Amino acid sequence: MKVLKFGGGCLKDAEAIKKLPNILKKYENNIIVVISAFGKLTNLLEDISSKRIVDFSRLHVVFTNIMKGLSFDKKNILKILNLIKPLDNSNAAILAIGELISSQILSYYLHKHLISHTLCNATGIIKTSNKGISASVDWEETNHRLEGIKDKIAKDNNSIVLTQGFIASYSRGKECEISCLGREGSDYSAAILGNIFNVEEVVLFKDVDGIYSSDPKKNKQAKLFHTLSYNQAFDLCNNGNTVVHPKTIKPLKEKKIPLVIKNFNNIDLPGTVIS
Ligand code: ASP
Ligand code: MG
Repeated sequence: MKVLKFGGGCLKDAEAIKKLPNILKKYENNIIVVISAFGKLTNLLEDISSKRIVDFSRLHVVFTNIMKGLSFDKKNILKILNLIKPLDNSNAAILAIGELISSQILSYYLHKHLISHTLCNATGIIKTSNKGISASVDWEETNHRLEGIKDKIAKDNNSIVLTQGFIASYSRGKECEISCLGREGSDYSAAILGNIFNVEEVVLFKDVDGIYSSDPKKNKQAKLFHTLSYNQAFDLCNNGNTVVHPKTIKPLKEKKIPLVIKNFNNIDLPGTVIS
């Protein structure tokens, strides 16, 4: 089993999203696909949530344009737009709309392309020990629930599981609230899933070829690292290299699971392998 993660920078518009089915076909079986909110939708949601009156009309426009670009019919566009409401009163629930609706759209698009899969909400998989938009993972509770999740996935008999990065949930007794893992946290989600499912590899698709010694857009001398150790990668990412979220490294190092960074627009390049 592998985890493949696609960030908002890759899935930035309908044209980019159209590349996904072919990439998934290359991986064939047993994959967990983790996606972020399309483009910069989380920034937009953060802005919406900061207003006194929460108004999702700008979000409707962005999602509608993407769905039109993917040739969805009117009925399905309306059906998905109707899902745009926070699942509870928290700020995290507002931010989570980005990932939840993006994954609904992708799920529908993949079905249209005959890629059968199970859409499994990350809020039911990853549990946090506190509330909020920057919550901490409750590893014990997350692992504790894993067998139930595996049974549910196995019942569907699909070799692709589609889920969201960044979002999780907090529950105590009957209380349950959406939580998030911190901005740009979906790399971390991929690593958490990699760890708990004990996968053979986690692949993060990015809009660059891999991890460079400095920003290749600013510095022509920047050198691409073909391989890095977990510690080297952590030091780079923790010291300003923004390609991979620094929290991603530890859960993978712990189980010696390789982390591969690949260019979404050129997946045949080897990228950077961290092991
Ligand atoms: N969509 C979330 C954010 O922009 C998570 C992520 O992209 O990693 O912060
Ligand atoms: Mg994002």
